Amino acid sequence: MLNPAPLDTVCLNHAPSSKKRVAYFYDSDVGNYAYVSGHPMKPHRMRMAHSLILNYGLYKKMEIYRAKPATKYEMTRFHSDEYIDFLFKVTPDSITKHMTEQAKYNFNDDNPVWDGLFEFCSISAGGSMEAAARLNNRKCDLAINWSGGLHHAKKGEANGFCYVNDIVLAILELLRFHQRVLYIDIDVHHGDGVEEAFYTTDRVMTVSFHQYGDFFPGTGDIDDIGVHDGKNHSVNVPLRPGMDDASYSRVFQQVIKGIMEWYRPGAIVLQCGGDSLSGDRLGSFNLSMRGHANCVNYVKSFNVPTMLVGGGGYTVRNVSRTWAFETGVAVGEEIGPELPYDDYYGYYAPDYVLDVRPSNMPNHNTDQYLNQITTRVLENIKKTTTFSPSVQMTDVPRYPLVPALDEEYEDMMEDEDEDQNKDTRVSPRQVDMYIEPDGELSDDEDMNRISSVLNAIKKRNHLNHNEVTSNPTTDADVSMAEDDSVGTKLDSIEGKTDVPASKESTPLTDVDVLGDAQDEMSE
Ligand SMILES: [Zn+2]
Repeated sequence: MLNPAPLDTVCLNHAPSSKKRVAYFYDSDVGNYAYVSGHPMKPHRMRMAHSLILNYGLYKKMEIYRAKPATKYEMTRFHSDEYIDFLFKVTPDSITKHMTEQAKYNFNDDNPVWDGLFEFCSISAGGSMEAAARLNNRKCDLAINWSGGLHHAKKGEANGFCYVNDIVLAILELLRFHQRVLYIDIDVHHGDGVEEAFYTTDRVMTVSFHQYGDFFPGTGDIDDIGVHDGKNHSVNVPLRPGMDDASYSRVFQQVIKGIMEWYRPGAIVLQCGGDSLSGDRLGSFNLSMRGHANCVNYVKSFNVPTMLVGGGGYTVRNVSRTWAFETGVAVGEEIGPELPYDDYYGYYAPDYVLDVRPSNMPNHNTDQYLNQITTRVLENIKKTTTFSPSVQMTDVPRYPLVPALDEEYEDMMEDEDEDQNKDTRVSPRQVDMYIEPDGELSDDEDMNRISSVLNAIKKRNHLNHNEVTSNPTTDADVSMAEDDSVGTKLDSIEGKTDVPASKESTPLTDVDVLGDAQDEMSE
């Protein structure tokens, strides 16, 4: 039996207003990349989260997109040209010949150079930029990119396992349509890269809840509030180890409520770093899965266009659980507790449930301390005297970072899709765009059949392109990947479920992520 979490804070509101159009960005290549051996950052966790999201059936409730990877040019909307040039060309072999650049751009054991680094950054940034563009065009209410959230990257250097700051690029895109954007960071580390990028402007308010005191990156003091027009628009909530669900939700909700009332942002980016969860390899907070997801649920309740991105998180089985659960929160569906069988089932031993429980570690944040910092933070927020920021930021691009997503582009994509899929009843684009309606099946048998075909294909497509390039032996069903026509796809799916004959056959492609707790590389 499960021990209930001490605070069951997530109570999904099923009122009609809580139903959101959700766009989910995922590129199956992302899980194939790996930092160097022993590095705590594992892109594989995005693949594990995605697998749970598929196998819980959440793909039926949202539109799924594979974003165009960001180009060098797009990255230089924030980063310096010379840094991006170097990031583009450097390889693990060549880095040793460039000692000056290595120091200049902060490449080291924390931020190593590895094969596929630039491509990985392109995927992460491309997803967040397209998510922003889709929110701007009101194509969705919530957009999710768990491959994003790399909040430490600086304009001209790598930092804290982050190389390209997808969040800053996404916020620049949001600023084209929104006068004020709110950035919220629940990663256990201070969101220094994003704060620094917008430290002098009142058009972005950054708020970071983080562990503080002899902890990476060392910034994020309560007195760091922004400068010039940005004064009081950087909000820092420095916390001590052991933050639990009850303390966190109280502080989070009071601060965010104050900001929402006072600042009234047109869009929100919520960085959902999973290293604030209990049992993280690097962080020392004590949040349960539900305590973490409560932040998503609370932000969602304001009905403001919102982007969810990933971030840190170094106990990967807990990160994937939580991001899957939070995807459920986004679409208004509470999933779990029994984990569906998937290719990574073995990672979830011994309990195989969708939960991250708090430990009995002490909470070093007293009520008095939390009341003090909350009061100070709220006082500062109220010093932001106007709802209309005074100065137009000069470096906000006039043209879209993502050359897409206007009506013309959508029409073009639809035409192209039709041309390329003349012989199929249902095209891949239609599959990914399809969202299953709520409630009972309709009386229309044809409609129900189309729905079941689309859902089966949607699930199959993403299981396949999830796996085939990385490890064919773990492919959910390689035979399905080889079918091309819709008719045979449907036939091949019927009777095939995701549950194989034996659970013992669970492949573990990356044993490193199961243990390796001794590897104490600090962020
Ligand atoms: Zn972190």
